[in-house]
Amino acid sequence: TIEECRKVLTSEIKTFPDWPEKGVNFKDVQSILFNPELASITSHYLKELLPKNKKNEYEFNKILCFDARGFLFGFDLAKIANAPMILARKPGKLPGELITQTFQKEYGTDEIQVQEGLIKPGDKVLIHDDLLATGGTAGAAAEIILKCGAQIAGFNFIMDLTFLPGRKELQKYVPNHKIKAL
Ligand code: AMP
Repeated sequence: TIEECRKVLTSEIKTFPDWPEKGVNFKDVQSILFNPELASITSHYLKELLPKNKKNEYEFNKILCFDARGFLFGFDLAKIANAPMILARKPGKLPGELITQTFQKEYGTDEIQVQEGLIKPGDKVLIHDDLLATGGTAGAAAEIILKCGAQIAGFNFIMDLTFLPGRKELQKYVPNHKIKAL
């Protein structure tokens, strides 16, 4: 069950205290990928979290995933939903005309970029990343989607650090039940 999956994930994900900086307990997705059984359970239950309508059809037509750990399971989700996948990357990584969004980090600001023309008005875009912390990164993606005149179909994460305000931040974009994590 999904509860069992959550339990296994919590116990198996390796945490690196005070990395990359003091006060951060880094949850290492490497420990999922290195355990094929855990990786396939994770993939299976992430798919269960995808938004669907009453007719059991996926309620999104594109999926946006983050550099770099969001690409791992994001590609998997894109394939199962037969949805175009959009890469959101850090500055300097993507060629062509770009949409840039600045967002607040704990110390200073950061930026993410998406290639122009991939998100169109009327699209329903699902956002996927490995982990929700403060919600800054996912919120920046939400802003890009809105700038393009598209809708946010929901958020999908492997992990939610529930002691941080990420979920609350993202509730300005979608109702709580559309913010899913294992
Ligand atoms: P945030 O924008 O604060 O929600 O942070 C989420 C992004 O930073 C994701 O792309 C995560 O991969 C990464 N991240 C933040 N905190 C952690 C953590 N404790 N462990 C692993 N990754 C993290």
